[in-house]
Amino acid sequence: MIFFVFLYLNILISNPTDFLEVKAKSGDGLITLFQRYDIDYSNQNISLFKELNNQNNLGLNLSKTYKLPINVYKFNGKSIRTTINNNDYDFALAIQHYNEDLVKKGIKDKDFREDKILWVPVNFNPNNSDKSEKIALKKEIPLRERVYPILGKKYEKVKEEDHLLLDCAFYLITGHGGPDPGAQSEKGGHTLSEDEYAYDVILRLGRELIKRGAEVYFIVQDPEDGIRDEVYLKNSKDEFYYGGMKIDYNQKQRLHDRCDITNEIYNQNPEKKKNHHAISIHVDSRLSNSKQIDIFFYHAPNSSEGELIANSLLTTIKRKYNEVQPNRGYEGSVSYRSLYVLRHIVPVMTFIELGNIQNYRDQQRILIYDNRQAIANWLTDGLVEYYKSK
Ligand SMILES: [Zn+2]
Repeated sequence: MIFFVFLYLNILISNPTDFLEVKAKSGDGLITLFQRYDIDYSNQNISLFKELNNQNNLGLNLSKTYKLPINVYKFNGKSIRTTINNNDYDFALAIQHYNEDLVKKGIKDKDFREDKILWVPVNFNPNNSDKSEKIALKKEIPLRERVYPILGKKYEKVKEEDHLLLDCAFYLITGHGGPDPGAQSEKGGHTLSEDEYAYDVILRLGRELIKRGAEVYFIVQDPEDGIRDEVYLKNSKDEFYYGGMKIDYNQKQRLHDRCDITNEIYNQNPEKKKNHHAISIHVDSRLSNSKQIDIFFYHAPNSSEGELIANSLLTTIKRKYNEVQPNRGYEGSVSYRSLYVLRHIVPVMTFIELGNIQNYRDQQRILIYDNRQAIANWLTDGLVEYYKSK
Protein backbone atom coordinates (compact mmCIF):
# COMPACT_ATOMS: atom_id res chain seq x y z
CA MET A 1 0.00 0.00 0.00
CA ILE A 2 2.76 2.41 0.96
CA PHE A 3 4.61 1.47 -2.16
CA PHE A 4 1.57 2.18 -4.26
CA VAL A 5 1.02 5.62 -2.73
CA PHE A 6 4.63 6.49 -3.29
CA LEU A 7 4.43 5.56 -6.95
CA TYR A 8 1.24 7.48 -7.39
CA LEU A 9 2.67 10.67 -5.87
CA ASN A 10 5.71 10.26 -7.98
CA ILE A 11 3.69 10.18 -11.17
CA LEU A 12 1.73 13.25 -10.08
CA ILE A 13 4.74 15.44 -9.57
CA SER A 14 7.10 14.26 -12.21
CA ASN A 15 5.48 15.08 -15.52
CA PRO A 16 8.65 16.00 -17.44
CA THR A 17 7.07 18.87 -19.36
CA ASP A 18 6.05 20.61 -16.16
CA PHE A 19 9.40 21.52 -14.65
CA LEU A 20 12.59 22.90 -16.09
CA GLU A 21 15.26 20.21 -16.30
CA VAL A 22 18.91 21.15 -15.99
CA LYS A 23 22.33 19.69 -15.37
CA ALA A 24 24.66 20.89 -12.65
CA LYS A 25 28.05 22.31 -13.55
CA SER A 26 31.34 21.42 -11.96
CA GLY A 27 31.65 23.12 -8.58
CA ASP A 28 27.92 23.78 -8.32
CA GLY A 29 26.10 23.60 -5.05
CA LEU A 30 22.35 23.98 -4.84
CA ILE A 31 22.84 27.65 -3.93
CA THR A 32 24.82 28.40 -7.09
CA LEU A 33 22.39 26.41 -9.21
CA PHE A 34 19.41 28.35 -7.85
CA GLN A 35 21.28 31.63 -8.28
CA ARG A 36 21.99 30.83 -11.91
CA TYR A 37 18.26 30.52 -12.55
CA ASP A 38 17.37 33.47 -10.33
CA ILE A 39 15.26 31.54 -7.90
CA ASP A 40 15.24 32.01 -4.14
CA TYR A 41 17.28 29.70 -1.95
CA SER A 42 14.26 29.43 0.30
CA ASN A 43 12.99 26.52 2.35
CA GLN A 44 9.99 26.26 0.02
CA ASN A 45 12.18 25.94 -3.05
CA ILE A 46 14.65 23.62 -1.36
CA SER A 47 11.97 21.19 -0.23
CA LEU A 48 10.24 21.28 -3.62
CA PHE A 49 13.59 20.59 -5.26
CA LYS A 50 14.12 17.56 -3.02
CA GLU A 51 10.61 16.33 -3.74
CA LEU A 52 10.90 16.78 -7.51
CA ASN A 53 14.19 14.98 -7.65
CA ASN A 54 13.39 12.34 -5.12
CA GLN A 55 16.36 13.01 -2.93
CA ASN A 56 16.98 13.60 0.74
CA ASN A 57 20.12 15.67 0.64
CA LEU A 58 21.28 18.78 -1.16
CA GLY A 59 24.08 17.09 -3.06
CA LEU A 60 24.34 17.50 -6.81
CA ASN A 61 25.70 14.90 -9.18
CA LEU A 62 27.21 16.04 -12.47
CA SER A 63 25.83 13.14 -14.49
CA LYS A 64 22.24 13.65 -13.33
CA THR A 65 19.49 15.86 -14.73
CA TYR A 66 17.57 17.83 -12.13
CA LYS A 67 14.13 19.35 -12.11
CA LEU A 68 14.09 22.91 -10.83
CA PRO A 69 11.11 24.54 -9.11
CA ILE A 70 10.39 26.40 -12.36
CA ASN A 71 7.34 25.55 -14.46
CA VAL A 72 7.76 25.46 -18.23
CA TYR A 73 4.83 26.74 -20.26
CA LYS A 74 4.26 26.76 -24.01
CA PHE A 75 3.76 30.47 -24.74
CA ASN A 76 0.52 30.90 -26.68
CA GLY A 77 1.81 33.83 -28.72
CA LYS A 78 -0.79 36.20 -27.28
CA SER A 79 0.05 37.11 -23.72
CA ILE A 80 1.72 35.79 -20.62
CA ARG A 81 -1.51 36.30 -18.71
CA THR A 82 -3.52 33.97 -20.97
CA THR A 83 -0.64 31.52 -21.23
CA ILE A 84 -0.39 30.98 -17.49
CA ASN A 85 -4.03 31.72 -16.79
CA ASN A 86 -3.36 34.53 -14.34
CA ASN A 87 -4.86 37.95 -14.91
CA ASP A 88 -2.48 39.87 -12.70
CA TYR A 89 -0.76 42.32 -15.02
CA ASP A 90 2.14 43.12 -12.67
CA PHE A 91 2.80 39.45 -12.15
CA ALA A 92 2.90 38.88 -15.90
CA LEU A 93 5.26 41.81 -16.35
CA ALA A 94 7.57 40.47 -13.66
CA ILE A 95 7.56 37.05 -15.37
CA GLN A 96 8.39 38.77 -18.65
CA HIS A 97 11.36 40.52 -17.04
CA TYR A 98 12.45 37.32 -15.35
CA ASN A 99 12.57 35.53 -18.71
CA GLU A 100 14.27 38.43 -20.47
CA ASP A 101 16.92 38.72 -17.77
CA LEU A 102 17.80 35.06 -18.09
CA VAL A 103 18.22 35.44 -21.86
CA LYS A 104 20.54 38.39 -21.24
CA LYS A 105 22.53 36.32 -18.74
CA GLY A 106 22.83 33.56 -21.33
CA ILE A 107 20.93 31.05 -19.21
CA LYS A 108 17.85 30.82 -21.43
CA ASP A 109 18.52 30.25 -25.12
CA LYS A 110 15.90 32.44 -26.76
CA ASP A 111 13.26 35.04 -26.03
CA PHE A 112 9.95 33.39 -25.12
CA ARG A 113 8.22 35.16 -28.02
CA GLU A 114 10.64 33.43 -30.32
CA ASP A 115 10.87 29.89 -28.99
CA LYS A 116 7.44 29.94 -27.28
CA ILE A 117 8.99 28.65 -24.08
CA LEU A 118 8.09 30.54 -20.93
CA TRP A 119 9.66 29.88 -17.55
CA VAL A 120 7.64 30.58 -14.42
CA PRO A 121 9.25 29.92 -11.04
CA VAL A 122 6.85 28.05 -8.79
CA ASN A 123 7.41 30.27 -5.77
CA PHE A 124 7.68 33.52 -7.64
CA ASN A 125 7.15 36.77 -5.82
CA PRO A 126 6.53 39.60 -8.32
CA ASN A 127 7.19 42.29 -5.74
CA ASN A 128 10.65 40.98 -5.05
CA SER A 129 11.67 39.42 -8.30
CA ASP A 130 15.31 40.24 -7.75
CA LYS A 131 16.63 37.83 -5.16
CA SER A 132 19.65 39.87 -4.19
CA GLU A 133 17.61 43.02 -3.78
CA LYS A 134 15.16 41.10 -1.69
CA ILE A 135 17.77 39.84 0.73
CA ALA A 136 19.43 43.23 0.91
CA LEU A 137 16.07 44.84 1.57
CA LYS A 138 15.40 42.49 4.43
CA LYS A 139 18.65 43.47 6.07
CA GLU A 140 18.18 47.14 5.15
CA ILE A 141 21.68 47.26 3.76
CA PRO A 142 22.06 47.59 0.01
CA LEU A 143 24.41 45.29 -1.82
CA ARG A 144 27.78 46.98 -1.83
CA GLU A 145 30.69 47.07 -4.20
CA ARG A 146 33.72 46.98 -1.96
CA VAL A 147 37.38 47.43 -2.83
CA TYR A 148 40.09 45.28 -1.27
CA PRO A 149 43.50 46.21 -2.75
CA ILE A 150 44.98 43.23 -0.89
CA LEU A 151 43.24 40.96 -3.44
CA GLY A 152 45.32 42.42 -6.28
CA LYS A 153 44.44 44.64 -9.25
CA LYS A 154 42.40 42.07 -11.13
CA TYR A 155 40.25 41.04 -8.18
CA GLU A 156 40.20 44.03 -5.81
CA LYS A 157 36.65 45.08 -6.65
CA VAL A 158 34.15 42.77 -5.03
CA LYS A 159 30.47 43.09 -5.76
CA GLU A 160 28.22 41.60 -3.13
CA GLU A 161 25.83 39.05 -4.58
CA ASP A 162 23.73 38.47 -1.50
CA HIS A 163 23.87 38.90 2.26
CA LEU A 164 23.73 35.30 3.35
CA LEU A 165 26.79 35.85 5.56
CA LEU A 166 26.05 39.40 6.64
CA ASP A 167 25.99 38.31 10.30
CA CYS A 168 29.48 36.85 10.11
CA ALA A 169 33.02 38.06 10.67
CA PHE A 170 35.83 35.81 9.44
CA TYR A 171 39.44 35.98 10.59
CA LEU A 172 41.45 34.32 7.84
CA ILE A 173 44.90 33.21 8.87
CA THR A 174 47.38 31.90 6.33
CA GLY A 175 49.70 29.34 7.87
CA HIS A 176 53.32 30.51 8.22
CA GLY A 177 54.46 33.55 6.19
CA GLY A 178 57.20 36.13 6.54
CA PRO A 179 60.54 34.43 7.25
CA ASP A 180 58.76 31.06 7.51
CA PRO A 181 57.71 29.54 4.16
CA GLY A 182 56.24 26.45 5.84
CA ALA A 183 56.61 23.14 4.02
CA GLN A 184 58.47 23.23 0.71
CA SER A 185 59.02 21.01 -2.27
CA GLU A 186 60.71 21.15 -5.67
CA LYS A 187 58.93 20.81 -8.97
CA GLY A 188 60.15 21.56 -12.47
CA GLY A 189 62.91 23.82 -11.20
CA HIS A 190 60.51 25.73 -8.96
CA THR A 191 60.35 25.75 -5.21
CA LEU A 192 56.80 25.35 -3.97
CA SER A 193 56.20 27.03 -0.63
CA GLU A 194 53.28 26.24 1.62
CA ASP A 195 52.68 29.81 2.74
CA GLU A 196 52.24 31.11 -0.83
CA TYR A 197 49.65 28.51 -1.85
CA ALA A 198 47.80 28.76 1.44
CA TYR A 199 47.77 32.55 1.03
CA ASP A 200 46.28 32.34 -2.46
CA VAL A 201 43.48 30.06 -1.25
CA ILE A 202 42.86 32.32 1.75
CA LEU A 203 42.48 35.37 -0.52
CA ARG A 204 40.11 33.50 -2.82
CA LEU A 205 38.10 32.26 0.13
CA GLY A 206 37.96 35.76 1.62
CA ARG A 207 36.72 37.20 -1.65
CA GLU A 208 33.89 34.64 -1.86
CA LEU A 209 32.90 35.38 1.74
CA ILE A 210 32.87 39.12 1.04
CA LYS A 211 30.54 38.44 -1.90
CA ARG A 212 28.07 36.98 0.60
CA GLY A 213 28.23 40.09 2.75
CA ALA A 214 30.67 38.86 5.42
CA GLU A 215 33.27 41.03 7.14
CA VAL A 216 36.66 39.53 6.42
CA TYR A 217 39.99 40.17 8.14
CA PHE A 218 43.11 38.87 6.47
CA ILE A 219 45.44 38.37 9.43
CA VAL A 220 48.51 37.66 7.27
CA GLN A 221 48.98 40.08 4.39
CA ASP A 222 51.25 40.60 1.42
CA PRO A 223 50.42 43.73 -0.58
CA GLU A 224 52.71 42.54 -3.40
CA ASP A 225 50.72 39.38 -4.01
CA GLY A 226 47.03 39.57 -4.75
CA ILE A 227 45.10 36.58 -6.01
CA ARG A 228 47.45 34.96 -8.52
CA ASP A 229 46.15 33.05 -11.52
CA GLU A 230 49.51 31.33 -11.80
CA VAL A 231 50.78 27.80 -11.43
CA TYR A 232 54.08 28.55 -9.74
CA LEU A 233 53.76 31.07 -6.94
CA LYS A 234 57.00 32.83 -6.24
CA ASN A 235 58.08 32.68 -2.63
CA SER A 236 58.47 35.97 -0.82
CA LYS A 237 59.28 36.82 2.77
CA ASP A 238 57.63 40.20 3.03
CA GLU A 239 54.27 39.17 4.48
CA PHE A 240 53.21 40.96 7.66
CA TYR A 241 50.25 40.98 10.01
CA TYR A 242 47.01 42.89 9.81
CA GLY A 243 47.91 46.24 11.35
CA GLY A 244 51.48 46.18 10.03
CA MET A 245 53.38 44.15 12.62
CA LYS A 246 56.21 42.08 11.18
CA ILE A 247 56.20 38.31 11.35
CA ASP A 248 58.81 37.13 13.84
CA TYR A 249 61.59 34.61 13.19
CA ASN A 250 60.79 32.79 16.39
CA GLN A 251 58.06 30.21 15.91
CA LYS A 252 56.55 30.56 19.40
CA GLN A 253 56.42 34.31 19.00
CA ARG A 254 54.83 33.92 15.56
CA LEU A 255 52.03 31.74 16.85
CA HIS A 256 51.50 34.00 19.83
CA ASP A 257 51.30 37.13 17.65
CA ARG A 258 48.72 35.80 15.21
CA CYS A 259 46.49 34.69 18.07
CA ASP A 260 46.94 38.04 19.80
CA ILE A 261 46.08 40.07 16.72
CA THR A 262 43.03 37.95 15.89
CA ASN A 263 41.73 38.18 19.47
CA GLU A 264 42.39 41.90 19.56
CA ILE A 265 40.26 42.57 16.46
CA TYR A 266 37.59 40.30 17.86
CA ASN A 267 37.65 42.04 21.26
CA GLN A 268 37.34 45.49 19.76
CA ASN A 269 33.73 44.89 18.93
CA PRO A 270 32.41 41.40 19.43
CA GLU A 271 28.76 42.51 19.34
CA LYS A 272 29.14 43.98 15.84
CA LYS A 273 28.49 40.58 14.34
CA LYS A 274 26.56 37.58 15.50
CA ASN A 275 29.08 34.98 14.36
CA HIS A 276 32.85 35.15 14.61
CA HIS A 277 34.94 32.48 12.96
CA ALA A 278 38.68 32.06 12.51
CA ILE A 279 40.01 29.88 9.70
CA SER A 280 43.61 28.86 9.18
CA ILE A 281 44.82 27.16 6.01
CA HIS A 282 47.91 24.99 5.59
CA VAL A 283 49.44 22.80 2.88
CA ASP A 284 51.75 20.78 5.04
CA SER A 285 54.21 18.04 4.30
CA ARG A 286 52.60 15.30 6.28
CA LEU A 287 54.21 11.91 6.18
CA SER A 288 52.88 10.45 2.99
CA ASN A 289 51.43 6.98 3.43
CA SER A 290 51.10 6.25 -0.31
CA LYS A 291 47.33 6.68 0.07
CA GLN A 292 45.76 9.83 -1.26
CA ILE A 293 45.62 12.68 1.18
CA ASP A 294 42.52 14.84 1.20
CA ILE A 295 41.47 17.92 3.00
CA PHE A 296 41.55 17.57 6.76
CA PHE A 297 39.63 19.70 9.22
CA TYR A 298 40.69 20.26 12.81
CA HIS A 299 38.87 22.02 15.61
CA ALA A 300 39.83 22.99 19.13
CA PRO A 301 39.57 20.36 21.88
CA ASN A 302 36.15 20.60 23.56
CA SER A 303 34.69 22.96 20.97
CA SER A 304 31.34 21.50 19.98
CA GLU A 305 30.63 24.36 17.60
CA GLY A 306 34.06 23.96 16.03
CA GLU A 307 33.26 20.30 15.51
CA LEU A 308 29.85 21.09 13.97
CA ILE A 309 31.35 23.58 11.54
CA ALA A 310 34.17 21.24 10.57
CA ASN A 311 31.66 18.48 9.91
CA SER A 312 29.54 20.78 7.79
CA LEU A 313 32.59 21.74 5.72
CA LEU A 314 33.68 18.12 5.37
CA THR A 315 30.22 17.07 4.19
CA THR A 316 30.18 19.78 1.55
CA ILE A 317 33.69 19.06 0.31
CA LYS A 318 33.02 15.35 0.24
CA ARG A 319 29.91 15.89 -1.83
CA LYS A 320 31.80 18.15 -4.22
CA TYR A 321 34.55 15.59 -4.67
CA ASN A 322 32.03 12.89 -5.39
CA GLU A 323 30.46 15.08 -8.06
CA VAL A 324 33.70 15.95 -9.78
CA GLN A 325 35.49 12.62 -9.36
CA PRO A 326 32.81 10.03 -8.55
CA ASN A 327 35.18 7.07 -8.66
CA ARG A 328 37.97 8.57 -6.70
CA GLY A 329 36.66 7.92 -3.22
CA TYR A 330 37.36 10.24 -0.40
CA GLU A 331 39.43 10.03 2.73
CA GLY A 332 38.81 13.05 4.89
CA SER A 333 38.55 13.64 8.56
CA VAL A 334 37.35 15.92 11.27
CA SER A 335 39.18 15.75 14.55
CA TYR A 336 40.39 17.92 17.36
CA ARG A 337 44.01 18.87 17.73
CA SER A 338 45.70 20.49 20.59
CA LEU A 339 47.47 23.07 18.44
CA TYR A 340 48.57 26.36 19.94
CA VAL A 341 46.37 28.49 17.66
CA LEU A 342 43.32 26.29 18.20
CA ARG A 343 43.73 26.65 21.97
CA HIS A 344 44.44 30.38 22.04
CA ILE A 345 42.18 31.99 19.46
CA VAL A 346 38.94 33.09 21.11
CA PRO A 347 36.40 32.90 18.24
CA VAL A 348 35.46 29.43 17.05
CA MET A 349 38.17 28.13 14.76
CA THR A 350 38.68 25.74 11.88
CA PHE A 351 42.18 24.60 10.97
CA ILE A 352 42.37 23.22 7.43
CA GLU A 353 45.09 21.16 5.81
CA LEU A 354 44.67 21.18 2.07
CA GLY A 355 47.13 18.41 1.45
CA ASN A 356 50.74 17.48 1.24
CA ILE A 357 52.90 19.80 -0.81
CA GLN A 358 55.30 16.95 -1.54
CA ASN A 359 52.63 14.56 -2.78
CA TYR A 360 52.19 14.52 -6.58
CA ARG A 361 48.41 14.31 -6.56
CA ASP A 362 48.04 16.99 -3.94
CA GLN A 363 50.37 19.21 -5.95
CA GLN A 364 47.96 18.92 -8.88
CA ARG A 365 45.16 20.12 -6.68
CA ILE A 366 47.13 23.04 -5.36
CA LEU A 367 49.07 24.14 -8.46
CA ILE A 368 46.07 24.50 -10.77
CA TYR A 369 44.55 27.81 -9.82
CA ASP A 370 41.06 26.79 -10.89
CA ASN A 371 41.34 24.10 -8.26
CA ARG A 372 42.38 26.64 -5.65
CA GLN A 373 39.30 28.64 -6.63
CA ALA A 374 37.08 25.54 -6.44
CA ILE A 375 38.30 24.84 -2.90
CA ALA A 376 37.45 28.44 -1.94
CA ASN A 377 33.98 28.14 -3.52
CA TRP A 378 33.25 24.85 -1.82
CA LEU A 379 34.39 26.05 1.59
CA THR A 380 32.14 29.08 1.13
CA ASP A 381 29.17 26.88 0.21
CA GLY A 382 29.82 24.82 3.34
CA LEU A 383 29.97 27.94 5.51
CA VAL A 384 26.78 29.34 3.97
CA GLU A 385 25.02 26.07 4.63
CA TYR A 386 26.23 26.00 8.22
CA TYR A 387 25.31 29.58 9.06
CA LYS A 388 21.96 29.33 7.30
CA SER A 389 20.97 26.36 9.42
CA LYS A 390 22.28 27.92 12.61
ZN1 LIG B 1 51.70 24.46 7.86
